[in-house]
Amino acid sequence: MLYIGSHISAAKGYEAMGKQALKLGANTFAFFTRNPRGGKAKEIDEEDVGRFLALAKEHSFGKLVAHAPYTMNACAAKEDIRRFARETMADDLRRMEYTPGNYYNFHPGSHVGQGSDVGMALTAEILNETLKPEQTTTVLLETMSGKGSEIGRNFEELRKILDLVELQDKMGVCLDTCHVWDGGYDIVNDLDGTLKKFDETIGLDRLKAIHMNDSMNPLGSHKDRHEKIGQGKIGLKAMEEVLNHPKLQGLPVILETPNDDAGWAKEIMLLRSLHR
Ligand code: FE
Ligand code: FE
Ligand code: ZN
Repeated sequence: MLYIGSHISAAKGYEAMGKQALKLGANTFAFFTRNPRGGKAKEIDEEDVGRFLALAKEHSFGKLVAHAPYTMNACAAKEDIRRFARETMADDLRRMEYTPGNYYNFHPGSHVGQGSDVGMALTAEILNETLKPEQTTTVLLETMSGKGSEIGRNFEELRKILDLVELQDKMGVCLDTCHVWDGGYDIVNDLDGTLKKFDETIGLDRLKAIHMNDSMNPLGSHKDRHEKIGQGKIGLKAMEEVLNHPKLQGLPVILETPNDDAGWAKEIMLLRSLHR
């Protein structure tokens, strides 16, 4: 079963997101848990969530891959920015429990000159303050391209962060194809080698979701500029290999390509046609 979808606006609530996903030919999706630039989240409407859960069940949706606001920086140097990250994550995880058993993906953060060891420790500290033994949501660290002072720029750093988290079974990783490519992993010529590296460093059992994006920039550029599927430096053939790799089957595949709804519907159809 291929679970594929794109980012969908959360402005109109859960049922609207589910219906929009179906319109695009999707059976999973990503959404920002609040305005991507932060701010207060909409309170949960339990009836709306109930209608969504019924729809998701009826159409056999895969796990959702919610995305934390990308301004959240759990390893900022300033305490008030870290407090915002802590409060945002805690509130997001509380709201995620209305749709149990899904994924909450976030960018591990930027250490802004403190050094990656300090950054990794600060991010793990927020996770340790926020994760709860009773939660059903799995929190995913996203693989980053290594632009600026991002932590999680390679598999070793992700493993280090994971090792510092107490509630290990609440954690996983989301692999972003654009980010790992920009980060220097050659998924075009050596997808097997990249996945072997991932397995040896982190463990493929920790890999829970894929962000499928082409990249505007060459291997190892550390840029993080997404491109439409097949129109960037990664190319369609490599996307097809990722999609069909035996070790990646069953994971939700999320498009974060620069598209409108029609563009996403087309990419979803294309990738479905390439899934063997
Ligand atoms: Fe992301
Ligand atoms: Fe991503
Ligand atoms: Zn990105």
